Amino acid sequence: IQKSPIADFRMRSVDYESAPAEEKARLLKRPVLKFDEMMAKVRPIIDEVRRRGDKALIDLAATLDRAQLSETVIRSPFDIDSLPIDKNVKDAIDQAYANIKQFHAAQITNETLIVETMPGVVCSRFARPIARVGLYVPGGTAVLPSTALMLGVPAQVAGCQQILLASPPRPDGTISPEVMYVAHLVGASAVLKAGGAQAIAALAYGTESVPKVDKIFGPGNQWVTAAKMLVQNDTDALVSIDMPAGPSEVLVIADDTARPTFVAADLLSQAEHGVDSQVVLVAVNFSHNQLQQIEDEIEKQARALPRAEIVRESIGKSLIIQVSTIEEAFEFSNSYAPEHLILHLKDAKRRVDLVQNAGSVFVGPYSPESCGDYASGTNHTLPTNGYARQYSGVNTLSFQKHITSQEISKEGLDKLGPVVIRLAECEGLEAHANAVRVRLKAT
Ligand code: NAD
Repeated sequence: IQKSPIADFRMRSVDYESAPAEEKARLLKRPVLKFDEMMAKVRPIIDEVRRRGDKALIDLAATLDRAQLSETVIRSPFDIDSLPIDKNVKDAIDQAYANIKQFHAAQITNETLIVETMPGVVCSRFARPIARVGLYVPGGTAVLPSTALMLGVPAQVAGCQQILLASPPRPDGTISPEVMYVAHLVGASAVLKAGGAQAIAALAYGTESVPKVDKIFGPGNQWVTAAKMLVQNDTDALVSIDMPAGPSEVLVIADDTARPTFVAADLLSQAEHGVDSQVVLVAVNFSHNQLQQIEDEIEKQARALPRAEIVRESIGKSLIIQVSTIEEAFEFSNSYAPEHLILHLKDAKRRVDLVQNAGSVFVGPYSPESCGDYASGTNHTLPTNGYARQYSGVNTLSFQKHITSQEISKEGLDKLGPVVIRLAECEGLEAHANAVRVRLKAT
């Protein structure tokens, strides 16, 4: 590749301390997603699937995925032995599966919580799996068995009875063998050959061949995201979703101990996702020379990437925030609430205490985000767009619900009853008060 005299892959650099307040607020913003427009486009697709069921899925696969389908669903058991999978890829999937399973199985909360709040008043809480879950595995521009693992493994260890995977079919009407292999590993009951809004509609409402699910998980493009948001607001569907999703993002906090090659590689690994990807470097007390080294390294590594065109665009919209102190760096990062946070800091482990908002944290020079994306054990389906302030990433608890119960003895009600009667009377709810009174009066 010919090197141009002007740097091509340049991030915008901002001195945080001297930036005016409005500029500081703007730095936290992501590109606006035009959901109103998307909702209007997605609604007719959802309506068509509700009206015409499997026939709509077959027609939409032909027009949107250029795939000819003879069937919409592949049911288990899947024919695994005939799948054309490279042995090394299969071994890598097996190792990733084992690590993700180990970490997610450890999160299960099967123990019942029991608390006696007053003598004779026993409150408890127990977990049950969500029975039927639908997992969307994107497949428009890339094959993503890693997403099938990240959604399928927690569903499996949580004990969901019916795991339905959905992914866009390939032009020959098949699903990628790697995704089929993961479907087998996680014990999926069926794989739906559909992508986009039509897949989400089929999962939410069901069709002749697709069983309806209770909760839909998974990332996807704007068609998928808009459809998830629409169905979760429809009481006919009675379905929930994992979280709102947006373009992926990373924030790296680096000090003068950081290695420019590592920092540049981490920023680029996110920038190659798509032109909307968010890449932010928070540079703590960097000299001009240190900053230059990182910029040169980004330029050098980016030029060698096959997805250089995507990277050029995403890096062009990305930011370097220069700050003077670690505290200032974390103040910015916690306000931004990144999906991925990488700490290239001296004593990085000690600094984790300063993290308030982030989807997943990568600590120290040998913890690239790629490891969490694929195989270390943590989940890669994480809150974007600042939602890390209030959402957790997908985890085993996302596939369970917690039910509370109480058992009150006669003696317990003698003590608690007058409190409840007083509060019910205060709210004017006589029948509530009465349900206690009749028991207190009973002999
Ligand atoms: P996708 O599976 O999300 O979407 C493909 C589907 O979109 C097609 O099957 C088609 O039905 C629908 N579609 C496309 N153009 C359409 C049109 N004009 N009209 C109607 N429907 C249309 O695959 P993708 O497009 O490759 O997007 C994958 C997304 O998932 C990317 O944005 C990627 O960044 C994201 N992703 C995120 C994570 C994460 O954990 N955050 C992981 C993997 C992928």
